[in-house]
Amino acid sequence: MSEVQILESVQQFIARQHGHFIDGENVAAEAVERIELYNPATEQVVSTIAVGNQNDVEKAVKNSHDAFLNAWANTSPYERGLKLNKLADLVEAHAEELAQLETLTTGKLINISRHLEVAQTVIFLRYFAGWATKINGQTMQPSIPSANGEKYTAYTMRQPIGVVAGIVPWNFSLMIGVWKIGSALTTGCTIVVKPSEFTTLSLLRLAELAIEAGIPKGVINVVTGKGDTGQHLINSPLVKKVSFTGSVPTGIAIGKQAMASDLTRVSLELGGKNAAAILADANIDEILPTLLQATFVHQGQVCAAPERFFVHQSKYDELVSKVSAAVQQLKIGSPLDESSMFGPLSNKPHFEKVKHYLDIAQQNNQVITGGKALEGTGYFVEPTLLKVSGVDDPLFIEETFGPVVDVIPFETDQELIEMMNHSRFGLTASLWTNDLSKALRLIPQIEAGSIWINMHTFLDPAVPFGGVKASGVGREFSDAFIEDYTEVKSVMIRY
Ligand code: NDP
Repeated sequence: MSEVQILESVQQFIARQHGHFIDGENVAAEAVERIELYNPATEQVVSTIAVGNQNDVEKAVKNSHDAFLNAWANTSPYERGLKLNKLADLVEAHAEELAQLETLTTGKLINISRHLEVAQTVIFLRYFAGWATKINGQTMQPSIPSANGEKYTAYTMRQPIGVVAGIVPWNFSLMIGVWKIGSALTTGCTIVVKPSEFTTLSLLRLAELAIEAGIPKGVINVVTGKGDTGQHLINSPLVKKVSFTGSVPTGIAIGKQAMASDLTRVSLELGGKNAAAILADANIDEILPTLLQATFVHQGQVCAAPERFFVHQSKYDELVSKVSAAVQQLKIGSPLDESSMFGPLSNKPHFEKVKHYLDIAQQNNQVITGGKALEGTGYFVEPTLLKVSGVDDPLFIEETFGPVVDVIPFETDQELIEMMNHSRFGLTASLWTNDLSKALRLIPQIEAGSIWINMHTFLDPAVPFGGVKASGVGREFSDAFIEDYTEVKSVMIRY
């Protein structure tokens, strides 16, 4: 085993006494309480972070509001785009440092941190940078009749909504943080980010890089802490929009809270129990590498990843035996070891949650392959395939957010669609087939915000992303985000 060398800059960063990042600098928190951040592979403390109370949050929001009214309002769209591109340059220049910070606190394989998390962060920043100069209103011709020769014209303008609260989960903190930061900054909003209490460091570092990129102080502030800190943020009267990514229960609570706080706008990207349907014509050998990667990347802790495989009866045995053989070959090990193929779960509460589902499966004899937590140090579990007893089985219904997949046979298309849609969630789904005609007939019947054919779990900034049913409200990326971060102002003129 050879682990990557932790950079000097990373060692210095984790050794710091981190406060909040407000007005371009590290600001000590009022409370003395600290949260310990753990390395999930070693269970050792990596660093500590501050807990934001109401005063800390108010300070951050007030400062962000001042930056919205002054510094950022006086920055032209062209300059906003330039600065976001400059931030992307700096993320590239500090890629290894950011990747190591992510891996140390999330257990993400170092190569996934490098080539997915940090690389996608750059791609998303550049995509959002391009939008800054392209956010426009429309002109329209009113229908009011003219009595005395007077005329009318009208136009709309899109104005930034104000200070955004970005609340971010622990699985891809840097990339998901940048979905919110990029959307806010390109539309002219400013943002106060609340990262997850488990994985806070990479966003604190990104906020520093933003200052180096010339983004004015206060445009990106970061307050750290737990759910309470997020709640203070949502309640702040100066926060005009909440962009939340996380679990369904927290999302519903936040949605209610935001509505009660003078109808603060809210977009919610929530969980899923995503389905991958392997149709009768699928060539299992051909689809296997892509299907496995999409399912087990970051130990299955990806909101978009499949947790239910529906397999045509004729291919069920072949798929089960080939997937089982393949996952048993995955080398489980330290995420800092470049040869590891599967790392730990990201934090202890989540490890306990996944273990709970594995225990249920063991008790009920439902394990096809895997099914156990590893003995020893670290939050490691085996990649797991399960049988379920039916559509009312909790393992069929509840999101595990781990490397745990149900494999369910089906006979007819109708049976397939009924089972795929038998879920409160509707985030993503995929069909694995070369029968395009069949795929095109099935796509409209599937209740999901994103559907892939012969792929899954691939997010692209050009393609809108978001859930239906309990998987969320609103869409990120493409031009869909503009609606959420701007208000339309209508102007009518009589002349
Ligand atoms: P949580 O809902 O537990 O937390 C998400 C964020 O909200 C964290 O920063 C958390 O802080 C904060 N938070 C928790 N409670 C509150 C509250 N009452 N008010 C304000 N903020 C609060 O989700 P996880 O971090 O556990 O992330 C996993 C979940 O996220 C899964 O369900 C997954 O499917 C979903 N997800 C969805 C994605 C999507 O795009 N649809 C993408 C990625 C994940 P703290 O961590 O400090 O508790």
